[in-house]
Amino acid sequence: MSESNRLRIAIQKSGRLSKESQKLLKSCGVKFNVNEQRLIAHSDNMPIDLLRVRDDDIPGLVMDGVVDLGIIGENVLEEEQIERQAIGKPAECLKLRELDFGACRLSLAVPTEFSYQDATSLEGLRIATSYPNLLRRYMQEKGINYRDCMLKGSVEVAPRAGLADGICDLVSTGATLEANGLYETEVIYQSMACIIQSTQEQTPDKQALINKILSRINGVVRAKE
Ligand code: ATP
Ligand code: ZN
Repeated sequence: MSESNRLRIAIQKSGRLSKESQKLLKSCGVKFNVNEQRLIAHSDNMPIDLLRVRDDDIPGLVMDGVVDLGIIGENVLEEEQIERQAIGKPAECLKLRELDFGACRLSLAVPTEFSYQDATSLEGLRIATSYPNLLRRYMQEKGINYRDCMLKGSVEVAPRAGLADGICDLVSTGATLEANGLYETEVIYQSMACIIQSTQEQTPDKQALINKILSRINGVVRAKE
């Protein structure tokens, strides 16, 4: 029932990657209309279905082979991969290529009055983040012990609210940090959007379609460089 002859591509439903993801597919000649209420958008000119979901769900859908392709931030992909490896769930996928949008960095930041030397200044302190696995990996490499404060949102207000001493959050311009009385001290991960493929074997027709889309994406991205 869940197998389909149509290529399934998961994209973010609404958020920072959704418009660009749709634009990219349209510029590759995939015609579709998105109904905001609907999970699925069917292409009218190619055997492709778009699944519009939370970005956090995209890596797992690809790694479990529920969908064939996904467009996702490398930060979310890597975070999910570490999580799944730890609990023995399928964590493999093929990164077909980096895209030209979704640039951001996962950074450590502390309140302006904090006198920060290097990451060891955070020894024993509490750090709020939505990316506990990427943070842990970085801190383990540095040999620093810290305490977790896991928040899915409002990470940047955690220090002011007295919940944490510092944060580890996504930054693009730094304006949000500044607005919350924080400053960026260290970049722990640089991220872009990317397109990923499930490692499941594809039928020749589907793989040919994937190759066609990928070669068009290569053309579109290169033309903008
Ligand atoms: P969802 O409702 O789908 O879970 P979200 O709130 O988790 O959405 P967005 O804020 O839309 O996610 O961000 C999606 C992705 O956009 C991030 O994971 C990251 O890869 C990228 N991104 C680019 N710039 C930024 C930024 N300044 N802040 C946060 N994410 C950014
Ligand atoms: Zn999300």
